[in-house]
Amino acid sequence: MFGRAPKKSDNTKYYEVLGVPKNAAQDDLKKAYRKAAIKNHPDKGGDPEKFKELAQAYEVLSDPEKREIYDQYGEDALKEGMGGGGGGGVDPFDIFSSFFGPSFGGGGGGSSRGRRQRRGEDVVHPLKASLEDLYNGTSKKLSLSRSVLCSKCKGKGSKSGASMRCPGCQGSGMKVTIRQLGPSMIQQMQQACNDCKGTGESINDKDRCPGCKGEKVLQEKKVLEVHVEKGMQHNQKITFPGEADEAPDTVTGDIVFVVQQKEHPKFKRKGDDLFYEHTISLTEALCGFQLVLTHLDNRQLLIKSNPGEIVKPDSFKAISDEGMPMYQRPFMKGKLYIHFTVEFPDSLAPDQCKALEAVLPPKPASKLTDMELDECEETTMHDVNMEEEMRRKAHAAAQEAYDEDDEMPGGGAQRVQCAQQ
Ligand SMILES: [Zn+2]
Ligand SMILES: [Zn+2]
Repeated sequence: MFGRAPKKSDNTKYYEVLGVPKNAAQDDLKKAYRKAAIKNHPDKGGDPEKFKELAQAYEVLSDPEKREIYDQYGEDALKEGMGGGGGGGVDPFDIFSSFFGPSFGGGGGGSSRGRRQRRGEDVVHPLKASLEDLYNGTSKKLSLSRSVLCSKCKGKGSKSGASMRCPGCQGSGMKVTIRQLGPSMIQQMQQACNDCKGTGESINDKDRCPGCKGEKVLQEKKVLEVHVEKGMQHNQKITFPGEADEAPDTVTGDIVFVVQQKEHPKFKRKGDDLFYEHTISLTEALCGFQLVLTHLDNRQLLIKSNPGEIVKPDSFKAISDEGMPMYQRPFMKGKLYIHFTVEFPDSLAPDQCKALEAVLPPKPASKLTDMELDECEETTMHDVNMEEEMRRKAHAAAQEAYDEDDEMPGGGAQRVQCAQQ
């Protein structure tokens, strides 16, 4: 919806597509479209693009108001007014069937045959799963509400099965309003027809189906049992084909669950491997440790160092076949990695130091004499939080750069804004 200044754009293409002169009468247009559309119908092996072009051309030229706009301002005026894509939102099959009736090509079959079926939308739900669920596998029962075709009227909305073309929109489901804003300005709006809620059909009050009150569909509660299999990954999809909302003349879409793995307080997962953080004391690091780890299936694993082995800070150890089971090969498992943090004591008493020195490898001997050491300058070390320190320095540097920019003529602040986009 908008106003525009007129501009010459192509206003002959639609006539060429249909192969008619610019002054063709409505009857000639109809005949030309009928002949070409039958020949090019995709169900008969025709080119779908050509079929679409024909529908578009006919849709515009058969409507006197649109034809006038087209003749005067060209295709662009219509395109822009329609929100993009010449004749945007027009289904070439709808035009075809409103012209020939829905049974064309159906070989005398039911009314839904011959009409191309739309595909309904998939319904996507996130599905939260704990690491335990993904390790052991589980199934979850979920209750959903969905639309199903009314069984009384088989989705027709009427007792007789008949429906009329909506008089408000001539069956197109859309209403186009054109306003002249000025001598050379037009405004075009396309809206869903409110008489028929965009369906293009209307049902006689007396014929309305009592089951669905003419709505064609009913809401139904449905319980789905979702199987979360061992080893499924974060964002993996579990699909229930054709279980989404039903609608007339529509191939029902799928219900899709997307696995969302929850954070685990102890384990982290990377693919099929598991990571476990473990903190030990310095004594454990030097003299051995033992850990009882409760796995995701509640088994208790006994994990201990080898006699005489020292565990170094920030080191990893791996246990094979104790990671996650692999999807669809659950007897195969990844690794379990254990990451060790060693907690050191903050201080030691002098006699403790002596005792340690007696058992640990000796300190490196000083290469300087006492005399030489006396000549060195004394220093004092203090504790520092390095992360905090770096953050403060980075902040100060950014502040300085910003202040410099601000002083520059021509709006340094604007540059900062651009950089953020
Ligand atoms: Zn309507
Ligand atoms: Zn019904």
